Amino acid sequence: VKNRILVSACLLGQPVRYDGKAKTLLHPLIQQWQEEGRLVVICPELAGGMPVPRPPAEIGARQDGKDVLLGEARVTDTSGADVTDEFIAGARIALNVAQAQGCRFALLMEGSPSCGSQMIYDGSFSGQKHAGTGVTAALLRQNGIQVFSQNTIEDLRIAVQSAH
Ligand code: SF4
Repeated sequence: VKNRILVSACLLGQPVRYDGKAKTLLHPLIQQWQEEGRLVVICPELAGGMPVPRPPAEIGARQDGKDVLLGEARVTDTSGADVTDEFIAGARIALNVAQAQGCRFALLMEGSPSCGSQMIYDGSFSGQKHAGTGVTAALLRQNGIQVFSQNTIEDLRIAVQSAH
């Protein structure tokens, strides 16, 4: 299959989020792409060795996944633990899987410190978001993979179609 799509496991209904729940995306394109054999499923945080459930984590002080990859920002959770290494490990595994499976696109869960592609929490653990990318989304983009979210799935549809 050409033009595979790396997809967040929680969007496909796997209960892998920090709170032990899924964030199932009910959309006809998901079923279509699954039937076409396009979807490659991963949870970067689990791949990086984190358990379910786990304390929620944020990238520090209005920084971005790119800053984490540069060693200029850390990821911490609400217990105060530094989980930067796990987040980077998960991002690298996600990139390896995407490249091995021929994924030119990714459909990742918006808002996550790993998977967010437009908005992430701002590091204050107060529910505030700012423009930014998660660690995995940033690494995928740096390596030429186009990253979309549940909010931009129509743009992904167009990108997949025009990539034929
Ligand atoms: Fe979902 Fe990504 Fe968080 Fe895993 S790391 S639970 S796939 S948003």
